[in-house]
Amino acid sequence: MKIIFFDLCAIPNFLLILITFFRRRLARYPAYRMFFFLTFLSLLCSILNISMEFIVNPTPLSQAEVVLGMLISFCYKWLRNGSMVIYLLFIFSITRTEHRFRKMTARLILWAPNAVLVFLLIQNFFTGNVFTVTAEGGYARGPLLMVFYLVTALYAIAGVAFCLSCRRFLSTSKLLLLLSVFLLLAVAITIQMLLPNYMVEMYFTSIGLLMLMLLVVRPEEAIDSSVGCGSWQSFQNDLHVMLYTRSRLRISVLHLPNAHEIRNYLGDQQYFAFIRQILDSMQAYTESLHVNGMFYFEHPGNIYLIMDEDEPDLEIITKECLMAAKDTVRRIGFRVVRFNPLICLIRCPEDLSQEYEIIKLCHRFQTLGSGNKTWFRASEIVRSRDFAIENDIEDILVRAIQDSSLQMYYQPIYDLHKHKFRSAEALARIVDSEYGMISPAIFIPAAERSGLILPLGNAVLESVYQFIAANDLKSLGIDYIEINLSVEQCRQGNLADTIFALQEKYSISPRQVNFEITESVFDSFEDVVEQNIRKLVEMGYRFSLDDYGTGYSNLQRLRKTPLTMIKIDKSLVDDLFSEEGRIVMRDTIRMMQDLDKEILVEGVETGDSLNLLNEMHCDFIQGFYFSKALPADHFLRFIQSANA
Ligand code: C2E
Ligand code: MG
Ligand code: MG
Repeated sequence: MKIIFFDLCAIPNFLLILITFFRRRLARYPAYRMFFFLTFLSLLCSILNISMEFIVNPTPLSQAEVVLGMLISFCYKWLRNGSMVIYLLFIFSITRTEHRFRKMTARLILWAPNAVLVFLLIQNFFTGNVFTVTAEGGYARGPLLMVFYLVTALYAIAGVAFCLSCRRFLSTSKLLLLLSVFLLLAVAITIQMLLPNYMVEMYFTSIGLLMLMLLVVRPEEAIDSSVGCGSWQSFQNDLHVMLYTRSRLRISVLHLPNAHEIRNYLGDQQYFAFIRQILDSMQAYTESLHVNGMFYFEHPGNIYLIMDEDEPDLEIITKECLMAAKDTVRRIGFRVVRFNPLICLIRCPEDLSQEYEIIKLCHRFQTLGSGNKTWFRASEIVRSRDFAIENDIEDILVRAIQDSSLQMYYQPIYDLHKHKFRSAEALARIVDSEYGMISPAIFIPAAERSGLILPLGNAVLESVYQFIAANDLKSLGIDYIEINLSVEQCRQGNLADTIFALQEKYSISPRQVNFEITESVFDSFEDVVEQNIRKLVEMGYRFSLDDYGTGYSNLQRLRKTPLTMIKIDKSLVDDLFSEEGRIVMRDTIRMMQDLDKEILVEGVETGDSLNLLNEMHCDFIQGFYFSKALPADHFLRFIQSANA
């Protein structure tokens, strides 16, 4: 009798894996279903192996035992070899190359050796050339049993070759673990050949599968547990793999522009429930179409759908997905949330083929398209100048900071009481050697993202101080220049020192500069920001609040912050000719003036708005009605003649 202890030990291992599989709810993930199958088949093989030993021992056997022995041995060999195919399928799904085996021919090739084996095993019932089970001799190997091992070896060699060919998509540890299963199998089979009584194969297999379970079957790496679909990390991994392995890819990006606000409004738990609802309805739709699509989520509000090369029209599917999501998603608990994403459709490689470009587009498409669109096609964006600039923005910024491509423009500000231009806002422009004039609307946010906003902000300060020092602005009637401070600058503990150094270097009075801040400077690091403002005010600088009316104003904080001036945003001017718009403007001006603030209205383009604002006792006007931002020399000439 053979030694069956190894098989007996393998069974608890397989059971442990299966229990863990269900406890961790791994069945939800298609990539791991093959792993479940594999473990289940291996468990079955161990049981068959053990029962075989009890049936064929002791000899002589009854007729029924002979038949049962033949059947069990048939099943064992068939399933054992089949589990090699399943293991290969598992590797394909882990490496996201499963699409290669969707085609009928590929599947036939994959299963062909196993089919040959089945044929061999069936003919064995009549010839006994693979193995025999006889009443007197029990189980005996036949000359063609080698074919079984050869077919197994063939699969193993194909598996090893495939793993190695996918090594660029796998971490070294995952690759080694996947390969170690083949190694364990080879060692086990060698032991069994040399010591036929030691049935170690299933035990070694169970060790291999345990290792995989612990270190490879890790959905937590791939799944975003808060919403239950692919994570941002796995989006990047899959994109990386799929760009190499698929000839064509289709990606839809759904960007929720107000994700932060919805999340604040609903709270984390309900927000994720809201996203789950969206994903569920979209997933149900793609599944009903049998579309091979994977969904991914990136915090706080980007949903990605990647589809394979053979899928039907990306635009139609995305539209229908959205319809499905919109139909079902309205109520979260007692609250109603609108799902109005911006969508970008990307075709690879027609539109883009580089991973970093795709990721950049996924993050930036909403700022690159023109107008108030909700649908963006990558094909249109990638041809635009904005996209080229966006791709090159860090180099552009570095060039701007180091060379002289950063230029300050000055937009005159008109005093409605004194009827002359009394100040100006310094607005940065980049005039790049390659791309020409670039708007701050593009490079300021990019500089903020990359951290280059600090050196850029310093370059702006230096340039404006130099300008003030070099020109006798006072004699032109210009009392001060407004300088925009970015959020990041306001958060620097040494802001006041930096400014003091400049003030000394250029012998400038703090009265000649007003700093503009936005309400977002208070979003975090409130203490540092408050300290900076206090120090600068003590030094004699004044502060204006920029873009008032675009965010959520904390009036209590505004009251406490030592602000001299409130700059009302252009969006309120655009609304000036509606009844409500007029009321908002009039009462805002009144309230701020009662709080002892000066009022500047930005973005005034027409005489009508100007007259209306004049009637509302607004103090200052800035806008294209008077002038755009001008290069320094133009500005000086403009003021000279306008204030004359
Ligand atoms: P902002 O500080 O609110 O500047 C006002 C923006 O409105 C300027 O755009 C100006 O050209 C534009 N504007 C003024 N009047 C009108 C008008 O009548 N109609 C229209 N349509 N637009 C008008 P610009 O120069 O493109 O600057 C955009 C933003 O970039 C600025 O908004 C500011 O937030 C930022 N920025 C510009 N320069 C700097 C800088 O040196 N440092 C920092 N941190 N930010 C800057
Ligand atoms: Mg400003
Ligand atoms: Mg503004």
